[in-house]
Amino acid sequence: MGSKFERAVAALRELAEDDLGGFPDAGQLDRVREWQHLQHLVDANLATTIGAVHRRGAVGHDGAPTTKSWLQGRLKLTSTEAGKFVDTARALPELPRFAEALTAGRLPLAHAAVAAWLYRKVNAVDPGLVARAEEMLFPHAEKLNSAELRQVAKRILEHLVPEKDHPPEPERSVFLAQTYDDIWDLKGSLSPEFGAMLQTYFTSMPKPDPDDTRSAAERRHDLMAELVRRILDSGELPTNGGEQPHLTVLVHVDDLRHTPSGRTVLRSRDTAGSWDSTGDWDSTGDWDSTGDWDWDIVADWLTDPDPDLAPAPEPMAAGAAAGMAAGNTPGTVQPRASWPGHRGAGDDSATDFAPTLRFGRIPGPGDGGRTDYGNHLPLAAVHRISCDAAVNRIVLGPGDVPLSAGRRARVVPPTMRRALVIRDGGCRFHYCTRPAQWTQAHHVVHWSHGGLTDMSNLVLLCDFHHHRVHDEGWTLEFDGRELTIRRPDGTTLDPP
Ligand SMILES: [Zn+2]
Ligand SMILES: [Zn+2]
Repeated sequence: MGSKFERAVAALRELAEDDLGGFPDAGQLDRVREWQHLQHLVDANLATTIGAVHRRGAVGHDGAPTTKSWLQGRLKLTSTEAGKFVDTARALPELPRFAEALTAGRLPLAHAAVAAWLYRKVNAVDPGLVARAEEMLFPHAEKLNSAELRQVAKRILEHLVPEKDHPPEPERSVFLAQTYDDIWDLKGSLSPEFGAMLQTYFTSMPKPDPDDTRSAAERRHDLMAELVRRILDSGELPTNGGEQPHLTVLVHVDDLRHTPSGRTVLRSRDTAGSWDSTGDWDSTGDWDSTGDWDWDIVADWLTDPDPDLAPAPEPMAAGAAAGMAAGNTPGTVQPRASWPGHRGAGDDSATDFAPTLRFGRIPGPGDGGRTDYGNHLPLAAVHRISCDAAVNRIVLGPGDVPLSAGRRARVVPPTMRRALVIRDGGCRFHYCTRPAQWTQAHHVVHWSHGGLTDMSNLVLLCDFHHHRVHDEGWTLEFDGRELTIRRPDGTTLDPP
């Protein structure tokens, strides 16, 4: 009958039905202690299970960035409560006495949390003293409440690790001053955590192109600048006169239409001019002298290997290519008029391009994007940033000379973003608790696939979850109200 868990719940229900009124005083008091014992047992198992989840990284199943954030989102714990569970669960394998007493239901979790605190402090200075610290603390655990135990733990710490041996408070300072020729001097010392975060950021950025002549130090500078630009562009900081272009990415129009793994199905195009229906394209007024194209037809023409494809849009026939800008901040997308295999077999002039230009000045199809700094951006990154971007297209003539550039169009206008912040409140991914200032507007159907820039096609996603969707195969469906989230294996993440 039922699972082990169901039987346990049934047994507890049965206990709860006892008529306490019929109990003698001593019996009622006993019952309180018995329930507390059960509570300890449950807490102990909760902690050890969370420890197992943490070691395996099982929260990835629900698309959560960390065990702690999953506990907050899914179990509605506060940040402090969730942190205590995770810290204690992580330390328990190193605290055999406390682990054993906890599992036996003899200690509350709060006592193990004190032991975990002492473990972290001692371990940071001398891991060889961890066992001794536990040995000293444990005899007090069953006699004291957790506040008293914490005082004992502090004394043990002072005894084992004299103040002078404590790791010094992280030295931290940043000095910024303008020196000469508009150059700024940046000096300082970073705390271990911040230094590690910054290092992670640097090393997680795309590697430089082979022909990138910048030094590593120059690249780090540029990466920091990019980081700051993103923050400035988030729309959450006070701005001067609205949006500012920051990061500009040049990318082939083709790369905006096709996701790298082909996960996103192109929406069938029924009518020309679907771009106009967003309202954004119309609003820019003057595209360029060549008139307003149907963007999908241009891209189709550019990508179709069949040389007998229906007549190219007028500007293309003149040997021009079309471009378009995308970026979190704007980027630029640069398609070419021709490249090998995409024009008629007899068109020799078309074969000159690709080999020399791959990672050259103008990215070709499949090359991903190139920032103004020359950093290569993989396709997935181009798709991510183009989700919430200002866009313009650039028409190239022979020799990649820009013939004209359309005026910039904001894909998600600031007013719409404000509306999204009000509606979504923060990251819309189920159980994510990240606030709106950490989010970007994501097109559920990407705008380069005909997805509209309107509220029914936009959700706010934090950077972590934006990556899950663009890079790791999580898929979203949105009807303007309900968000359906599917794992890469197609199963649905149950909504809150
Ligand atoms: Zn997106
Ligand atoms: Zn999120």
